[in-house]
Amino acid sequence: MTLEVSNVATETDLTFTEVSNTVDFPKLERDLLKWWKERRVVEQYLTKNDCAAEKFSFIDGPITANNPMGVHHAWGRTYKDLFQRYHAMLGKEQRFQNGFDCQGLWVEVEVEKELGLKNKREIEDFGIANFVERCKERVWKYAAVQTEQAIRLGQWMDWDNSYYTMSDENNYTIWHFLKTCHDRGWIYKGHDVMPWCPRCGTGLSEHEIVTEGYQERTHLSVYVALPLDGEDASLLVWTTTPWTLAANVAAAVNPALDYLLVDQDGKRYYVAKDAAMQALKGDFQVVSEVTGADLVGKTYRAPFDSLPANAEVIHRVIAWSDVSSGEGTGIVHIAPGAGKEDYALSKEHDLQVIDPINQFGVYVEGFGWLSDKYVHDVATRIERDLRDQGVLYRSHQYTHRYPVCWRCNTDLVFRLVDEWFINMDGLRDRLMEVTREINWC
Ligand SMILES: [Zn+2]
Repeated sequence: MTLEVSNVATETDLTFTEVSNTVDFPKLERDLLKWWKERRVVEQYLTKNDCAAEKFSFIDGPITANNPMGVHHAWGRTYKDLFQRYHAMLGKEQRFQNGFDCQGLWVEVEVEKELGLKNKREIEDFGIANFVERCKERVWKYAAVQTEQAIRLGQWMDWDNSYYTMSDENNYTIWHFLKTCHDRGWIYKGHDVMPWCPRCGTGLSEHEIVTEGYQERTHLSVYVALPLDGEDASLLVWTTTPWTLAANVAAAVNPALDYLLVDQDGKRYYVAKDAAMQALKGDFQVVSEVTGADLVGKTYRAPFDSLPANAEVIHRVIAWSDVSSGEGTGIVHIAPGAGKEDYALSKEHDLQVIDPINQFGVYVEGFGWLSDKYVHDVATRIERDLRDQGVLYRSHQYTHRYPVCWRCNTDLVFRLVDEWFINMDGLRDRLMEVTREINWC
């Protein structure tokens, strides 16, 4: 079918008002908001279903009120608004309540920047109460900014009824929850090695590291000889964190792997057979071949044995099936006070735990020349010390993915700390039962 356009135009006699090609969109928004306000459109919408029999409860996952909203927030909020409008049209009563997340590191990080504070000690000097007040001020400021932005986006919410996670109501609820857990015997103090930022003086959760935490870093890595007792041979170990050598108590081998005893210029080393080519530099002669199981139980001397903190330590070779020959030497240096798996192994093998650093990443007393030094400043001096002792096999700059603090980019360390936990063992099944009774839609 064809349509004769000229005839249609003539018959209906269309006329057009001229449209400007320079549109002031912000003005359009403001005009519309004004129009809504004059006609009490939003107010009527929010209260229209107040006496409805059916309710729809939307719990707003709050945005952290530490900065203006980003585009991703606006995107999420648009969907939230859409769902609530839909249920309003279905005639259901709603709270239309918006929330602000006020706690947490995001707010603190911004306030630290504002005040030019560089570490936890400076926050303590500034005064924790003062710092908390500054954090609250920032939350109030940006909650207002975000509210204004959401209104401009055309979101219809009960803005005077927003909830804040820093409210007394919320904090007392959390305390009540913890008290209930305590009354039921679910709270306990545990001792564990966790990722720690020495600049911020705080532990980080596994979650924070998985989501934000790995960067490519280059570290001085060392191959170190650990002389065996009663034998003219050394274990060869490799580490990317030389500072942890001062807390060494064991060396782990895989009992199922094959190991070589090699001779190089009159010195003898044990190294995994499959790791020998990558670990050793220069020619070597194979003296004998053993299994990891043959090495288990041997004792050795470590480079920091003369330090008072290590006076009682007996260094042993232990079995660990996770040891591979893919990287390093196939023999793993174990420092339970400075590594998560290492700490778990200390429980299994009844190893001593040497706890070398304080919350600021500084060696504590008992570590000789290392005491009072910052862990991230000692790698080169440790390398020199190992060379002077004649136990440095070789060193190199090694680039790898390493966990860092998402707040300040400092390399994390693993540190032994006391932490409070909620014991979930008796709770999981009950939680699962409760979720089956909830109507999720
Ligand atoms: Zn940090």
